[in-house]
Amino acid sequence: MTDLVVFLGPPGAGKGTQAIRIASEFNLAHISTGDMLREHVKELTDLGKTAKSLLDEGKLVPDDLVIQMLTERLSHEDCLRGSILDGFPRTLPQAESLEKISNKFPVRKVIVFEADQEELTKRILLRGEISGRSDDTEDSIRVRLEVYQKDTQPLINFYEDKRIVTKINAVGDIDNIYKLISKEF
Ligand code: ADP
Repeated sequence: MTDLVVFLGPPGAGKGTQAIRIASEFNLAHISTGDMLREHVKELTDLGKTAKSLLDEGKLVPDDLVIQMLTERLSHEDCLRGSILDGFPRTLPQAESLEKISNKFPVRKVIVFEADQEELTKRILLRGEISGRSDDTEDSIRVRLEVYQKDTQPLINFYEDKRIVTKINAVGDIDNIYKLISKEF
């Protein structure tokens, strides 16, 4: 029951949008490490002070800090019904940290969101105009897409070896994509 479903995909692929809907429909915790880090930045915590410039530049926050934040989050009561991980793991060390707690929190499924770079850049720039997110600039997007390819994409193979990956075409109508994803729950 404390199973984890990982949403994996490049920035702008719509993981957050879909995770919010799925979590509420299936009564799961929605854990977005990006949202949590932005909250730390807003609250001016020590972690937030370390994270701010990294977030703005589109770079990753160091593994040990994110792993600690995520592990603490999983101890909250709402995770007893299962959780969607949105934005974690993003590196191999992060994925390995989940392996270590897999007796308690097994990764049941990984849903990979696929979209081309042009579409992603377009979406993020539009989102930046609306949300005012300080990392939704052209320079930061370029870095985030590079970081995704270098650090996060290898996780697809890591989980494919475990035969728990489902790939979803993340370009198209939001409701249709939602229907595809909800079949996996
Ligand atoms: P996006 O998917 O559009 O990049 P997120 O909200 O998932 O948006 O992440 C925003 C930023 O937060 C990332 O660019 C990174 O700096 C930081 N971040 C989020 N999750 C992680 C993580 N698991 N490890 C390291 N840094 C992270």
